[in-house]
Amino acid sequence: MPQKRIYAFGGGKAEGNKDLKEVLGGKGAGLAEMSNIGIPVPPGFTITTDVCSEYYRSGKKLPRALEPELRAALKKVEALTGKGFGDPENPLLVSVRSGARVSMPGMMDTVLNLGLNDATVAGLAVRSQNARFAWDSYRRFVAMFGDVVLGMKPERKEDRDPFEVILEDKKRAHGVRFDSELPVEALQELVAEFKAEIQRRKGTAFPDDPTEQLRAAVAAVFRSWENDRAIAYRRMNGIPAEWGTAVTVQSMVFGNMGEDSGTGVAFTRNPANGTDELYGEFLVNAQGEDVVSGIRTPQKIAELAARWPDLAGQLEEVRAGLERHNRDMQDIEFTIERGKLYVLQTRTGKRTGLAAVRIAVEMADAKLITKDEALLRVEPEALNHVLRPVFDGERKAQAIKAGKLLATGLPAGPGAASGRLVFFAEDAEAWRARGETVLLARHETSPEDIRGMAAAEGFLTAFGGMTSHAALVARQMGKVALVGCEALRFDYHARKMIVAMPSGAERILGEGEWISIDGSAGEVIGGKLETRPSEVVEVLVERSRDPKGARVYQEFAKLLSWADQARRLKVRANADQPDQATTAVAFGAQGIGLCRTEHMFFGEGKIGPMREMIVAETEEDRRRALAKLLPLQREDFRGLFVAMAGRPVTIRTLDPPLHEFLPHDEAGVAELARATGKTIEWIRERVDGLAESNPMLGHRGCRLGISYPEITEMQARAIFEAAIDATEGGARVEPEVMIPLVGAKKELDDQAAVVRRVAEEVFAERGRKVRYLVGTMIEVPRGALTAGEIARTAEFFSFGTNDLTQTTFGLSRDDTGPVLKSYLQKDIYPVDPFVSIDRDGVGALMKIAVAGGRGARPGLKLGICGEHGGDPSSVAFCHGIGLDYVSCSPYRLPIARLAAAQAALREQAASAKPRPARAAKRAGVNGAAHAPRKLAKGRRAGARARAGA
Ligand code: ADP
Ligand code: MG
Ligand code: MG
Repeated sequence: MPQKRIYAFGGGKAEGNKDLKEVLGGKGAGLAEMSNIGIPVPPGFTITTDVCSEYYRSGKKLPRALEPELRAALKKVEALTGKGFGDPENPLLVSVRSGARVSMPGMMDTVLNLGLNDATVAGLAVRSQNARFAWDSYRRFVAMFGDVVLGMKPERKEDRDPFEVILEDKKRAHGVRFDSELPVEALQELVAEFKAEIQRRKGTAFPDDPTEQLRAAVAAVFRSWENDRAIAYRRMNGIPAEWGTAVTVQSMVFGNMGEDSGTGVAFTRNPANGTDELYGEFLVNAQGEDVVSGIRTPQKIAELAARWPDLAGQLEEVRAGLERHNRDMQDIEFTIERGKLYVLQTRTGKRTGLAAVRIAVEMADAKLITKDEALLRVEPEALNHVLRPVFDGERKAQAIKAGKLLATGLPAGPGAASGRLVFFAEDAEAWRARGETVLLARHETSPEDIRGMAAAEGFLTAFGGMTSHAALVARQMGKVALVGCEALRFDYHARKMIVAMPSGAERILGEGEWISIDGSAGEVIGGKLETRPSEVVEVLVERSRDPKGARVYQEFAKLLSWADQARRLKVRANADQPDQATTAVAFGAQGIGLCRTEHMFFGEGKIGPMREMIVAETEEDRRRALAKLLPLQREDFRGLFVAMAGRPVTIRTLDPPLHEFLPHDEAGVAELARATGKTIEWIRERVDGLAESNPMLGHRGCRLGISYPEITEMQARAIFEAAIDATEGGARVEPEVMIPLVGAKKELDDQAAVVRRVAEEVFAERGRKVRYLVGTMIEVPRGALTAGEIARTAEFFSFGTNDLTQTTFGLSRDDTGPVLKSYLQKDIYPVDPFVSIDRDGVGALMKIAVAGGRGARPGLKLGICGEHGGDPSSVAFCHGIGLDYVSCSPYRLPIARLAAAQAALREQAASAKPRPARAAKRAGVNGAAHAPRKLAKGRRAGARARAGA
């Protein structure tokens, strides 16, 4: 069968359907499906993503075989609409729309009103009996064609769209504020001036022939797959470059035909908090782009009912129908042409983490979806949002009372953020790279700003509604955001923000000033405000709120209880202090997977004896210092054991290079000299002597304990004495002593012998025993490769994937910055391997270690304690290779629990027989956890990983 390049839809049926996203793109598939289920959709057709590949393969040429199909498809649309493409009497106009497999909002281009020229515009004016409308459509088309097809869109931030400049001048000349107030002659002049501008800048005439317009527009939409913002977006979301975009050509319906027409966007549920209501905005007498671009601030959907009660009813029906059919919250675009409703797009709606949890739980409770589906619906990372801080109500009230409320806006991205003000996305990136916390403030944002938005803590815009670009991105990235703060004006050149205060006074804020935004209440506040924990944290961690009245907490807890039933992997926390352990338990920790003993030495009164121990020259001096550390460490361990109440606790013996503990400033050196009775010069020499060229690969890990067994002895003693103390206090205790950086069985033998000897000594002294394990971290390749040997001694393995990644790649995790930057840019690494496990390399070593370890010791306990333990994609991998648990920081535990549940559910779906094609597909569509985590977030996690295992 010859390749089918075009799929038609319209007139209540379609050649495609919603399962053809790969071929038709999300938009094309959605339009086809809506046609099939009787939702009013203007007829059109979709050119497949394969044609996009053909286009690129042939050096950016449309395949010749497309022509006849294109002609035939146009004929069908002409028949359904009763109009003719290029017909000067009754012209068919079309939109040419982009649409990839997954939605990439606003990243690619669309051309509206195509088919207009000096002849057809006259026909349109006569047919519609509305010359103003006809010329308004024409001037929009010429500008869009210039921008999108002829590449006249401004490239630098400071530049303005040439057509916008002409339009502004025209409005000024006519003394009007809005486009819609321009008289028809002005619109006619605009068309001529726009065309002249095209001629001047491009040296080519605007093409009058509709067929030529169409070909050029289709090619331009294909090319928009490769524009900078689309590439940046793909990189951030792990979308492969090969997918390409489909192109949908669709007959136009007109929202700009007068006061009985309009256009809008809506969500079938509130995307910010998940409330079950139609939520959105519309504009009277406007075309679709106007709502999204934020040029005019739109009206709330609630006001639509007052204006057009009938249409509001129809929209409600569409909402119910689409939700029932798609079984998920939808994001729709609609247009009203002279009182008739058309739906132009439907897709699964982006939502905040808060909304995701609520919608999933409520849909499952309403039996619209199953619990398993609800679990697969929520991206694990989204749970972050539910844990996000808010401002302390009292402090904020005080600030507002003190007159610090600068402006209000629409709450587009919930949460609270304070930061320093920047006005350009580039600056947000640069400041963030310097370690600043920034808020990006702009008149409006556009897809070009995407990287800067990722770098900012949050953003605010003067224009636009809840469905503007800024709002969309905020929801997706989980950023705090306010949009439509109309009191704000910007002077980009002077780098200033001018605020029209409620009092009537003006306040001017410069770049770098601190401001705070409340993305839930919609407030901009001057200065830096302290934040307060989220509802969930108040209930679980602070215990300052009654769970009964806390709805957000209730839904969160419900979803996670379903997750706990579904998952096989256990979850543990990386925690060093009793209070962290308590938090971890509140978030569902089933044990501690990594207690880094060295973190304890930085506490009150501990660093002194630690330093004395390190600079000691003789074993005797060292033992004296260790004796001071013993009671301190024992007390820490006891607290940890008590907090964990019988859950297993893995304690790692001293790991980092010793010089990390030494003072590097004069005061510290003097203090240490005093404490040890040595001279300042002596201490300095000793500090210098401990310096290493490659400390990460130097005298650290088990190598320390092998050189100085008395350190391991002290730590083992502290562990076992604490364990017995805790047992005597009534707690159950299960210590697991973990030896780091083992690459050879004999290393572990040496250290395990010390641990076991001390254990016996303590048990004899105290006349009591506790059960314990001695195991090792697998974090150097040799350890993984000889795991079978090592497991003859080790009673458990824990994968230290931070170091294992570092040593497998031969890339120091402290120096990844410049390397990863270009590597990720050039797609040499698909994703930061310190954030998501590199399955092919590091993962292969892990598999070898699992096989070797379990081969030598069936039932060997296996876990992971690197930063990857809290990364959803890595959790899925750990599930797949059969680990027993993952361990991560306490606040990532909910994410790990959900990711583990999803891994188990996906595995079930994959192995279920006979294979329910649909269920498997659905799981696949929602397969975000398999995709690498967003890099923007990843980099931050990477920074955390430095302290890691
Ligand atoms: P994006 O993917 O950026 O949202 P779309 O292809 O959805 O781009 O088009 C942008 C806007 O143009 C939409 O809001 C839609 O309302 C409007 N639009 C697209 N096609 C048509 C059409 N056939 N008739 C009327 N408006 C249209
Ligand atoms: Mg759209
Ligand atoms: Mg390590």
